[in-house]
Amino acid sequence: MASESEQTDQFEAVYRSRDRLARAQGEMARQGVDVLLVGPSSDLRYLLGLDAHVSERLNLLVLPRDGDPAYVVPTLEAPQLAGLRDLLDVRVWEETQEPAALAAAVVGDPAGKTIAVADQLWSVFLLRLQAAMPAAKWTVGAPVMRPLRMIKDGREIELLQEAARRTDDAWEAFIAQPLAGQTERQALARLLDLTQARGLGYGFGLCASGAGSASPHHHTGDRVIEEGDAVVFDWGGTLDGYNSDVTRTVHVGPPTDEFVRVYEAVRDANQAALDAVRPGAACEEIDLAGRGVIEAAGYGAAFIHRLGHGLGLDVHEEPYLVAGNATPLASGMVFSDEPGVYLEGRFGVRIEDAVLCTDEGGERLNNATRELTILR
Ligand code: ZN
Ligand code: ZN
Ligand code: ZN
Repeated sequence: MASESEQTDQFEAVYRSRDRLARAQGEMARQGVDVLLVGPSSDLRYLLGLDAHVSERLNLLVLPRDGDPAYVVPTLEAPQLAGLRDLLDVRVWEETQEPAALAAAVVGDPAGKTIAVADQLWSVFLLRLQAAMPAAKWTVGAPVMRPLRMIKDGREIELLQEAARRTDDAWEAFIAQPLAGQTERQALARLLDLTQARGLGYGFGLCASGAGSASPHHHTGDRVIEEGDAVVFDWGGTLDGYNSDVTRTVHVGPPTDEFVRVYEAVRDANQAALDAVRPGAACEEIDLAGRGVIEAAGYGAAFIHRLGHGLGLDVHEEPYLVAGNATPLASGMVFSDEPGVYLEGRFGVRIEDAVLCTDEGGERLNNATRELTILR
């Protein structure tokens, strides 16, 4: 039997889903979309609170602009929808049935209908759905989902704050120990263990040492970390689906003057970008604010990626803080602030925090030390 608090959680979850589905329908009406199709993905988790399994068996939310949502599900997975029966018209397909035909039957006559498809649906499903409803007009679902997911509500902000806080706490424990003599893989495993020991689910992680630190998406390997190395750690964990994403760069043994100069430029860029955050500022302005500091220090050509990305149920989501993106920031957006400098064959430095845009400006969710940390 469910406890009273479990029942309250369940009630709140259904209430939240009902509200989000209604808001998605509002966007559909504004944008002239008749049906939204969503497979197992962070969009589905956002709308239904359902962490559905991605597999070759079609699971599909069919949300019409008006009326009740339906959910197409294989028989063997239908029990997972028990808590959502009030919300959804559950349409079960048997092992021998063609699920795309069932989805088409739920949509009804597709002629003249605009069907939007959420970003993360396997192409094999999309192709079968398109073949089953050739008369429909097909479009991307991101414009419907983006305005909802970009602005975090109070509960989402709390989860992101708490995930960030626990990740920072893991870092403080991590840097209390020496690093030299461990492989990248061993060092990363220790950091991820400390992170998960604080109740976060596995997220992702990267450790890049020595010349490898000059590669932003370096693959963590068996290189032994030694004195004289810059070491970049970029990692995160999850809390009820919401991600943390932090980067810290440390130095093993005494750094060179140039490393200190680069480190300070990156730290100042991280601060300048934070200071530029306010509702109404364009995403690209924040990128420019951080980039300006690094350019002034003479390393502009070595800052080879955007300043940041939205953070939520996905580690990379909208809004992207990049030149050319004029999207205005709004209160409730959460994104990374992660300038970096990469000197090929030598070293790299990146410092990344998650930032919440509030009415008063940017608020860091990560507060692990940004002071230059020198380890043994
Ligand atoms: Zn990345
Ligand atoms: Zn990161
Ligand atoms: Zn990031």
